[in-house]
Amino acid sequence: MAKYEKVGLVGLGVMGFGMAKNLVKAGYTVVAYDVFPQAVERLLNAEDVDSSKVIAAKDAADITNYTNVVVTMLPNSPHVESVIYGENGILSGKTDDLFIIDMSSISPVATKKFAEDLKAKGVKFVEGPVSGGQSGAMNGTLTIMCAGDDKDLDDAMEIFEAVGKNIVRCGAAGAGQTVKVTNQLMSAINLISLSEAFTLCVKAGVDPQIAMDVITNGSGKCWALDNRLPEIMKGNFEPGFKIDLHTKDIKLAVEMAKEMNLPLPVTDMVCNLFKTAQIKGLGGKDNCAIIKLYEDIAGVEVRHVNK
Ligand code: NAD
Repeated sequence: MAKYEKVGLVGLGVMGFGMAKNLVKAGYTVVAYDVFPQAVERLLNAEDVDSSKVIAAKDAADITNYTNVVVTMLPNSPHVESVIYGENGILSGKTDDLFIIDMSSISPVATKKFAEDLKAKGVKFVEGPVSGGQSGAMNGTLTIMCAGDDKDLDDAMEIFEAVGKNIVRCGAAGAGQTVKVTNQLMSAINLISLSEAFTLCVKAGVDPQIAMDVITNGSGKCWALDNRLPEIMKGNFEPGFKIDLHTKDIKLAVEMAKEMNLPLPVTDMVCNLFKTAQIKGLGGKDNCAIIKLYEDIAGVEVRHVNK
């Protein structure tokens, strides 16, 4: 039987919206807050959502008037920090038996700091960053890299199960975020590798579809090939997962390496390429738009050939 009846959710963007729908579907009442009020209205007006199971909170603190369990799904560490500690933040509400579950992808160092500080204040905190993208959020099939005290993770499990399928306990506070950064770094490197290689292929005059069909069974196969290249070839660069958010994740890897005095030369290069894409105004586009940097240099486009 579910331990919680109502669940707070702060951040109803690309990911939070789908997660909210699945929480409602699982029988929870979602107490929702987003700094952008239209995000909550979108949930209230969604055709396939029972609006009697959605409460619009005035702010993050107001959520605690309805429930003691609050999920955050926000862009980065400063947003999580302000939603927990800031004016009208969660801690300025009722703190009895409070449980905060941060599912954003943020700094492992900040996460450890939040976990220690909240524990000292008697507030339970676990992390559960996700992968699986917007479709995983909508379908309730996210992979969740959770971490924290085992007993607290036991308590969070019913909520993770409502929004995800593959739930992996990664260790103590910060370990889930570390695994998430590892994934994001590999995915960024793979996108750059695909962008370079396919630009070369097209510049050499070969149909990218033929190369894709071959590499699908070759050693160059990767998630980006299966999932992002088809969008590139259609010329669809709408997010999905934005360059701005991916740059944030790569910067987290750069910060971690700096902290450990660990040279990661490819990571530094990939970070600079993503920052260049932001400067060129691509930050709000899907991460596969990184290929435009190469296309501009080469004077070609990796698209379906019209026969
Ligand atoms: P998003 O930008 O679409 O949504 C974030 C939401 O948070 C927005 O609606 C924004 O208005 C809200 N917000 C920001 N600051 C706030 C504040 N102070 N108070 C209340 N609301 C606030 O981002 P997203 O794509 O949903 O990503 C959320 C997190 O999940 C990020 O950490 C991202 O890296 C991670 N993630 C995203 C994807 C993806 O495919 N989009 C996949 C896996 C993980």
